[in-house]
Amino acid sequence: MDDYLSLKACINCFQNREIIKFVHEHEVDECDFCGNRDLPACEIEGIVRFIDEGIARKYDVVNGFEFPGHLCFLDVLYDEEILADSANRTEPGLEQALVRTSTYGDQILERQHDGWGSEKLQSIWTEFCAHTANFRFTAAMDVIGRRTEAKHLTTSARSEINLPLGMQDLWFSIENSYDDLITRHDPPFTYFRARVCRRDQKLHHDDLTAPPAELSSHGRMSPIGVSYFYAAGTPETAISELRPHIGQQVAVAHFDLNEPLLVLDLAKERHRKSIFDPSRDEKPGDFVCDFLRTIGDLIAKPIPPEESSTDYVPTQVFCEMIRRGELGKHIAGLRYRSALHKKGYNIVLFRGRDISLGPNPWLTFRGYELYRITDLSVSVEWLSRGKLYGFDC
Ligand SMILES: [Zn+2]
Repeated sequence: MDDYLSLKACINCFQNREIIKFVHEHEVDECDFCGNRDLPACEIEGIVRFIDEGIARKYDVVNGFEFPGHLCFLDVLYDEEILADSANRTEPGLEQALVRTSTYGDQILERQHDGWGSEKLQSIWTEFCAHTANFRFTAAMDVIGRRTEAKHLTTSARSEINLPLGMQDLWFSIENSYDDLITRHDPPFTYFRARVCRRDQKLHHDDLTAPPAELSSHGRMSPIGVSYFYAAGTPETAISELRPHIGQQVAVAHFDLNEPLLVLDLAKERHRKSIFDPSRDEKPGDFVCDFLRTIGDLIAKPIPPEESSTDYVPTQVFCEMIRRGELGKHIAGLRYRSALHKKGYNIVLFRGRDISLGPNPWLTFRGYELYRITDLSVSVEWLSRGKLYGFDC
């Protein structure tokens, strides 16, 4: 660890403005990471102390991964744009130096909120799941339906409907944060839908648009027998969602947008002041974005075959509340992050086959491309670090 503390990193090695400002106050020196010789550089010891102070402003240490909002130190390095990812990939040595020297290097973290921390959100969601999971989808919607028809609920109406109180508060915040939560897609804009196909198979428009209602199975957002148009933002994301095998052939259909559409954006990034800026503050409504991102991540989770169909009811009901509520009058669907393709996103539009085949179609089918799967990658997370099971059996 001491070896790392005396290494120097330059302003070129960081992305966050506040950290760059901090390093800028130091002398020009050689950077041990990127090799630059003519830029201000600072020892890791000072930088990591600055980073840890910033992290303490916004994150708490928790025990173990339990909720999608929990993060490891590396997530924070990239979420807070301390290090640049993707194209401007950081020197791996710097990432390692920060992990080894930060007091948070091996901790699990969660964001703090004023009274709306992820624990609170988790308990609201758990309560909502318990509330809806006892019902079948139609019964749950029957109960919730009365809620979404009433624009302004009186206290007595709330108790009659029996939606958990926390969820009611959250619901009002969601409907009142319209501008922050909506993304607009304008033509020209293309959505991609993929399906596995045989080598000699010819596909047509009706094989590639949304399935007929009678063939629609349970999804995280749509109950059995309801057909929605699911698609992705890129061909790679669409293919990843299929979870294909190496060697399989995949057709990727292109659907062009005919008119502007508004979607509720469960993948939206918030633009906030850096945690390293002492004048930063959080808007009270920010928790709504966090909550929706969490719901978006639940929706994006692949459904293992052993999961029972009642496990989908909470997210199905939640989406149906959105669709039938105030927001539903303005939006055409939801946008959410892909769990299977990093940085990718998916979309669900609340229309079945007539979205491209019926009158006034929102989309135009432009044909399909063929791909072959040549490689797949796997990444894992520890569930039982340092523990081996079954030895004494
Ligand atoms: Zn450097």
